[in-house]
Amino acid sequence: MAKRVYLFSEGSKDDRDLLGGKGANLCEMTSLNLPVPFGFVITTPTCREYFENGNRLPTLLEQEYRVALDLVEKQMGARFGDPENPLLFSVRSGAPISMPGMMNTILNLGINDEIAEGLANKTGNPRFAYDCYRRFIQMFADVVLGADTHAMEQVIEDYKDEKAYQTDVAMEAEDWQAVIGTFKTMVKFPEDPFEQLRLAVEAVFQSWYTPRANVYREMNNIPDSLGTAVTVQSMVFGNFGEDSGSGVAFTRNPSTGERLFFGEVLFNAAGEDVVAGIRTPLPVDAMQERMPDAHAELLAAQAMLEQHYRDMQDIEFTVQEGRFYILQTRSGKRTGRASVRIAVDMVREGMINEKEALLRVSPEHVQSFLHPMVDPDAPRTVIATGLPASPGGATGVIVFSADEAVKVEADGEKVILVRRETTPEDIHGMRVAEGILTELGGMTSHAAVVARGMGVCAITGCGDLRVSVQEGIATAADGTVIKRGDVITLDGASGEVMLGDIAKVEASTSDDFQTLLSWADKHRRLKVRANAETPEDAAKARELGAEGIGLCRTEHMFFASDRIDHMRAMILSKDRKERKQHLAKLQEFQHADMLELYRVMDGLPVTIRLLDPPLHEFLPHDQADADALAERLKKDPEEIMQARNDLAEVNPMLGFRGCRLSVVYPEITRMQVRAIIGAALQAREEGLNPYPEIMIPLVVNVREIRLISEVIDRGIAKVTKEKSVSLRYKIGTMMETPRACLGADRLASAVEFMSFGTNDLTQMTYGFSRDDAGRFIPQYLDAKIIEDDPFVSLDQRAVGRLMRMAVQESRQAKKGIKYGICGEHGGDPRSIRFCHDLGLDYVSCSPYRVPVARIAAAQARVLADRDD
Ligand code: ADP
Ligand code: MG
Ligand code: MG
Repeated sequence: MAKRVYLFSEGSKDDRDLLGGKGANLCEMTSLNLPVPFGFVITTPTCREYFENGNRLPTLLEQEYRVALDLVEKQMGARFGDPENPLLFSVRSGAPISMPGMMNTILNLGINDEIAEGLANKTGNPRFAYDCYRRFIQMFADVVLGADTHAMEQVIEDYKDEKAYQTDVAMEAEDWQAVIGTFKTMVKFPEDPFEQLRLAVEAVFQSWYTPRANVYREMNNIPDSLGTAVTVQSMVFGNFGEDSGSGVAFTRNPSTGERLFFGEVLFNAAGEDVVAGIRTPLPVDAMQERMPDAHAELLAAQAMLEQHYRDMQDIEFTVQEGRFYILQTRSGKRTGRASVRIAVDMVREGMINEKEALLRVSPEHVQSFLHPMVDPDAPRTVIATGLPASPGGATGVIVFSADEAVKVEADGEKVILVRRETTPEDIHGMRVAEGILTELGGMTSHAAVVARGMGVCAITGCGDLRVSVQEGIATAADGTVIKRGDVITLDGASGEVMLGDIAKVEASTSDDFQTLLSWADKHRRLKVRANAETPEDAAKARELGAEGIGLCRTEHMFFASDRIDHMRAMILSKDRKERKQHLAKLQEFQHADMLELYRVMDGLPVTIRLLDPPLHEFLPHDQADADALAERLKKDPEEIMQARNDLAEVNPMLGFRGCRLSVVYPEITRMQVRAIIGAALQAREEGLNPYPEIMIPLVVNVREIRLISEVIDRGIAKVTKEKSVSLRYKIGTMMETPRACLGADRLASAVEFMSFGTNDLTQMTYGFSRDDAGRFIPQYLDAKIIEDDPFVSLDQRAVGRLMRMAVQESRQAKKGIKYGICGEHGGDPRSIRFCHDLGLDYVSCSPYRVPVARIAAAQARVLADRDD
């Protein structure tokens, strides 16, 4: 039978899984000879056993912990349940992964009428003894009995009012006895200390499933299966008198990261009073005068603990009659800024090395350097919550259309674009918007992808809000109505929609941040590219460290208002001749755009995807638009609507798009190739070093590649014929259908690079349309059918299996073929780790995610090397 109970002298900090973080660290500190009140830990497997047993404690458990308890009594020189010389316990929760304040703890356990009296006699401090007793009753009632503790608080308040006392400190023994008398009429608790202990242990196990603990685990991806340990520890008393107190301290500032010891203390108070915030604590410096020895010990202990753990620590301590005790240490939670500063400082101080420093920051924290964020401490009225699609904080007046956004923004107002969903035609409005809010759509919906790409704050899938663009209002689930012109704030980190203007904290990169990124570059193997079309986005990406463009979606260039009519005219052409005319115009635009991109990305690869979306996306959506277009193009509006209806598809995601367009309309591809290569040649003439990589999308068959490659090659030959300069370029394919992955060896033989388009690959592997999945993915997550949204974090099991197969077979067919990923997953840290392990050459993500990807790629390398 596995050992279920460990004394503090029997464990170490490496026993987190077994003893929980709190228990393991109490053991560690005991072996460091720090003043930790003695106790024992009941293991986390015992918690699992309890639940598997149908919520019953294992039969032998009490026998086992009684042995430990005897030893604790010997060490403490007092006895649990002995009125002459009582020993009281705290019964504390603690999981392998820290879940601060999420589970329950019971203090001052092992007390009843007789023992309270004994404690009063032994200590000569009856006020203190009865304070402990009433605290025990309140906590036991709350945690074990599930009683109404507000009513009990009210009893104390009423009593103090009656006596005109200002604070709890004014309460004397008789006062607490009177309160306890009332409490006893309200709740019934066991007199027997051992019964109290049994019930408390059980209650701590039960607290693993409190609603707040469930939510916290879900938010932080902590598995339900871990369970909590129970720490049973001798009590020390900060509420003993004026030379006693309790406090919390951080070895460095958790908000800025500054290397400055930072702590707070409450005199004549128990630890729970600090947490509950009943009085405002003082800075720990206040201890210097009142309890100088304890103050000196605290300073020494914090310095030692930080050195020992080589990380910023969060410490709980209590002083009883001038004697210092330490009750907990753990890695302190910190802001993104603080995490970067602390990591970099600690390398400079020689405490950790660069690789460790890289593991100390979460990639999501890195994001906080790039966007202004809603001040976490600012008060707020939340009216709805959606998906946190693109980070940052944004405040502005509500507009309901892209055109309106442009108009209002031109008047100098910041705008929030509110839509049911967005389409490529909304781009101009999205560009000028401070933030974007949509009722529908998931984390990879158009709005989400585009917003992240532009670094604009966005909340999508906000089903709490019914948006009526027509009426210019949106109605929240609670009935609140927001309308055109109202000011709202979006928190893209939490998904909260708030009324009014909420304060932000500004983004600014720091030297420390740059230092950390330079270490990331030194240690990563994966290259990082960006998905970008416009010169502005490309320039931003390069500034943020992108090593090329991994995906340039050429169609985005045709949605701009000065181009879309040419595109439409091209689509509406009656014959090849007319189409060629319009293509010539489009070629000019494309040429100019590509030239700009080559200039920005001089010397770096630029991967250009051939036209991908179904053509109807370019056409007007309603009669009014069609009429206006007809007027401009001098065409019959009926004809335009007819063409639109002809092109409409039942299932556009699986329809006439991708390389299928190139097969049917080779002239479009020819135009694109002439522009891509023509611009590259012009760049060469300017003395630049362009490196285009032409990428064929949505391939399912090697013959598609052969056919289109021929068109491309001929186009290139034609353009280069007249020029004398040589040009580097590549032709490759996007891997985004299951069939492409299943026949990757054949595809590889026909191309020079391959890049996973994991948005489509996920969509087709699951058969989930990514534009519609927002309606059911939340329920799938709730029901735990899936662990994560597969459009956010790569599904390694199935989609990943296709990718692994594809990489292996491709490399067998063509050694050393370049492989990348350009789906949204290219910016997701967990997916990046997977791509590293897969042996890809690069990841490509939106410009603002580039720094995140650089850090995540370095972490992947460090962790992978560790696993070897
Ligand atoms: P949490 O995980 O919520 O911080 P803890 O188990 O750390 O819960 O307990 C909360 C507080 O109770 C501690 O901060 C400490 O002040 C007090 N406490 C816990 N154990 C003891 C003890 N043995 N003696 C005195 N106070 C204690
Ligand atoms: Mg604690
Ligand atoms: Mg695709």
